[in-house]
Amino acid sequence: MSSPVIVWLRRDLRLADQPALAEAARKGSVIPVYICDDDTPRHRAMGGASRWWLHHSLQSLDASLRARGSRLILRRGRSDEVLAKLAHETGAGEVHALHHYEPWWRNAEKAVAKAVTLCLHHGNYLAPPGSVTTGSGGLYKIFTPFWRALRERMPPPEPLPCPDAIPAPPQWPASDALDDWALLPTRPDWAGGLRDTWRPGEESAMERLAAFAEEAGDYAGQRNLPARDGTSMLSPHLHFGEISPAQAWHGAAQAGGSVDTFLGELGWRDYAQNVILQYPDYGAKNAREPFGDFPWRQSPADLQAWQQGRTGYPIVDAGMRQLWHTGWMHNRVRMIAASFLIKHLLIDWREGERWFWDTLVDADYGNNAVNWQWTSGSGVDANMFVRIMAPLTQSAKFDAADYIRQWVPELAGLSDAQIHDPPPGVRPRGYPEKRIDHREARERALAAWQQAKAAA
Ligand code: FAD
Repeated sequence: MSSPVIVWLRRDLRLADQPALAEAARKGSVIPVYICDDDTPRHRAMGGASRWWLHHSLQSLDASLRARGSRLILRRGRSDEVLAKLAHETGAGEVHALHHYEPWWRNAEKAVAKAVTLCLHHGNYLAPPGSVTTGSGGLYKIFTPFWRALRERMPPPEPLPCPDAIPAPPQWPASDALDDWALLPTRPDWAGGLRDTWRPGEESAMERLAAFAEEAGDYAGQRNLPARDGTSMLSPHLHFGEISPAQAWHGAAQAGGSVDTFLGELGWRDYAQNVILQYPDYGAKNAREPFGDFPWRQSPADLQAWQQGRTGYPIVDAGMRQLWHTGWMHNRVRMIAASFLIKHLLIDWREGERWFWDTLVDADYGNNAVNWQWTSGSGVDANMFVRIMAPLTQSAKFDAADYIRQWVPELAGLSDAQIHDPPPGVRPRGYPEKRIDHREARERALAAWQQAKAAA
């Protein structure tokens, strides 16, 4: 009998379109394992919302595996040590896994490859990051030419089917109990809003895709309106790999209409990996001068007001409260809230990146860092600092009145005309004054920019 094959699962928690699983099952019996090495020092530890999602996603994956005669083995520790031990215990000859591009995963893959026979497959991106190259063979730094080149290689291959059965090993190795990993919050249990909003797991991801595909033809017209359900809300499912981008592409492509805009968003996801492949510390380090010496303000009170959704700018506060309650924020509002932190409050983008990392269910090292550096203008792609978004204008332009009513209930009684910027007479008591006037903030930000440029 051939020796079993280990499938090392990470941010690819699905059975369909899972090339590592498909190849392992072709070779013999399969031992699927998830290793919690999140808290080893080499890793960037997951945020609270991600840990909540992971718990439920692992539970869902185990149930799907059991329905196919298999199960999920849970182990804790350094990936290389755990996999070497597991291979020794079970007599497994090979470990199959998908590539991941966060710097800590690339380091872990190198260490694992020294300890066991590691076979890595592609499957979490439209095209393998690093494979879309310029005419001279280099990697792209700017989105638009990257997307043009990637688009030419599309569509991605048809997704692999979900296996009906997965061959089990003669004996199952021991597994940790998921509850012992304490991924869920207790004392306080702040996850009520997450439970109301999401159902992690592959089945739910496929349902969401099917529902979105019905509406996807009007994506371009709806996607910027936070009061509408105009986007797919697939981001946490994509981040945890409960659905592959190829499945999302093929599922949505059938819709026709303005679906190309949606496919371009999947392109941004690939682009972000392409950036962190070139700049592994993008989540912590400015890519562009003069940001090294930027005169950021240190204001714990302003930072806290932003985090708690109490800045006095209704659209910003609505977004930050949506984030706290559901672990997700509409993309247009993410842009407004991020710009507000960086330019109105003049607080270092890394403070915002960390807050999003902790509170988003879709917190993704590449996507988060690329979007924060894009907003601040410190990134490789564009110098956006002097483009200062006007939150009140954006709020009216994108028709956010009902969105504000939902997330800032103390303003729910105001008219559409007043709710974006409640005048002093109608601003309810208990709702904060603006932390800074827009014009003043703009002038302060531009002065800071001049100062940084002069010092560079
Ligand atoms: P849709 O509009 O339906 O898009 C489909 C998919 O495309 C998304 O699920 C996502 O995987 C990808 N996508 C869409 N927009 C972007 C983008 N701008 N950059 C990269 N990928 C994109 N997205 C994350 O997944 N994780 C993050 O940590 C994250 N942090 C962000 C931080 C800031 C400051 C900003 C402005 C944006 C951030 N985004 C992040 C990008 C974007 O806001 C979310 O991907 C999107 O809102 C998710 O909702 P959706 O699934 O309905 O998106």
